[in-house]
Amino acid sequence: MHEVMTRLVINHTIHCKDEKATAKVVQMLANAILGFYASTPEKPQSLFMSLNGDLGAGKTTATRYLLQAMGYPGKVKSPTYSLCEEHILDLPNKALHVFHFDLYRMQNPDEWVDAGLLEHFTQSDYPTLCIIEWPEKAEHTLPTMDLAITLIHPQETESELARSVVIAAQTLKGEAVLQSLVTQSSTNP
Ligand code: ADP
Ligand code: MG
Repeated sequence: MHEVMTRLVINHTIHCKDEKATAKVVQMLANAILGFYASTPEKPQSLFMSLNGDLGAGKTTATRYLLQAMGYPGKVKSPTYSLCEEHILDLPNKALHVFHFDLYRMQNPDEWVDAGLLEHFTQSDYPTLCIIEWPEKAEHTLPTMDLAITLIHPQETESELARSVVIAAQTLKGEAVLQSLVTQSSTNP
């Protein structure tokens, strides 16, 4: 199902001085993700992305900006209690199903599988984007993430609003999306 890269994992770090700067990075990520789905309109694609970082790092905030930037007009509720919230976005060719997971409350790594949520990673009838907060709670039960994004809180010497956003591509798909983001950030720093 997934092409695991044999090359080195690609890492890119962007420093954000405030929430507006995070929103701008996320906007570039949204453009890159939309480009990815547009590149193969005849075949429904999936993209898996983890969001890592402490409580309050900005994982849910980043997801809200991402969905907004991809054209989702509705409210993005945090899936803290439900484990997973689904949002449907209208793309030019087909509806994109976004599954936003928050696994923080899981006591057991299999809980999300037992809840029947693995099917969101395996179906191929329509394009999907899976976003997972707290992937470490699922341990080995999650498939390989195309992109692993980590939001890092500021050092004590920095503003409370600053974040470092570290994006690691872990598959060829992830690499294509990251490359597009890096190209945008170099032409629009
Ligand atoms: P998490 O989902 O990682 O637990 P949330 O997104 O719920 O975190 O909360 C992050 C909080 O930090 C929000 O209140 C958001 O407004 C705030 N914030 C401040 N600066 C930033 C920034 N640069 N990037 C993202 N969020 C920020
Ligand atoms: Mg959250």
